[in-house]
Amino acid sequence: MAKTGLAQDSLFQKHLTGPDHPERPQRLAAIERRLRETGITEQCVPITSTSIDIELVHRIHDAAYIARAESSCRKNQAFLDTPDSAICAKSFDIACLAAGTVIHSVDLVMEKQLDHAFCAVRPPGHHAEKGISMGFCIFNNIAIATQHLLDKYQLSRVLILDWDVHHGNGTQHLFETDPRVLFISLHGHPSIVYPGTGQDTERGIGDGEGFTLNIPMTPPSSDAIYLAAFNDKVIPLAESFAPEFVLISAGFDAHRLDPLAPIELDTESFGWMTNAMLRIAKQSAQGRLVSVLEGGYHLEALGNSVACHVGKLLNAEID
Ligand SMILES: [Zn+2]
Repeated sequence: MAKTGLAQDSLFQKHLTGPDHPERPQRLAAIERRLRETGITEQCVPITSTSIDIELVHRIHDAAYIARAESSCRKNQAFLDTPDSAICAKSFDIACLAAGTVIHSVDLVMEKQLDHAFCAVRPPGHHAEKGISMGFCIFNNIAIATQHLLDKYQLSRVLILDWDVHHGNGTQHLFETDPRVLFISLHGHPSIVYPGTGQDTERGIGDGEGFTLNIPMTPPSSDAIYLAAFNDKVIPLAESFAPEFVLISAGFDAHRLDPLAPIELDTESFGWMTNAMLRIAKQSAQGRLVSVLEGGYHLEALGNSVACHVGKLLNAEID
């Protein structure tokens, strides 16, 4: 059994978004409950949540944006930049805790104290751009972790697989000129699904051309369509890139029960996608893989899908 870290903390439920917001604290409670019921929690190594050295946030986000995020939260404003990104007085500190916990998880995997980790953090991150909040996100957690891998460990090939049903616009834009980062996103087609980016013609820019792969899915795309996309596109490109570290932007809102988008994956879809990424990590990255929660808004489907995902991390073969 693989040594799998699990970052969970009730502090992440203190980011309050209002009574009708889909990105709500109950999401984490549902995950926590399901992982406990399935016995997964006790098989995982608990990861202590850790706040971030703000300097690491500055490597990804504008100083003016960070200052605005902090002041908007401290003043208890209703939202940051867009009504989608609802905040409360504690949200800045919790966003720092989310990003810091992902960094800490990456460090534990790099130090070989863990094989893999899953970070059940919020707010999510993949829509956050360099200088603006979008889509429930404050700091781009996975982008900050990627930059940390490039800077601290001098890695030259990091793979980010984003299977959230919404295109990871922020992550793409932050690394689209950088050939050290391969960004692969499968998402609902931008003509109908938020945020409206992620056409297959977006392939990276300049030196980064060819290091962005967008696979837009036309609803109701179900399991077989995703499997074909993995076999035909995702796995061949990921294998040829030979990442030294695998990161997953793990949103679970492509589930058929999810209320936010019309893609129809099954709970088990997240299991085989996890196994595919574990194989890539094993081939070239010494097994190193960290997965970070993004979306997923149907509480029961979210809990079940995360349990399937983390169960595969635990059951991975380790040399
Ligand atoms: Zn999403």
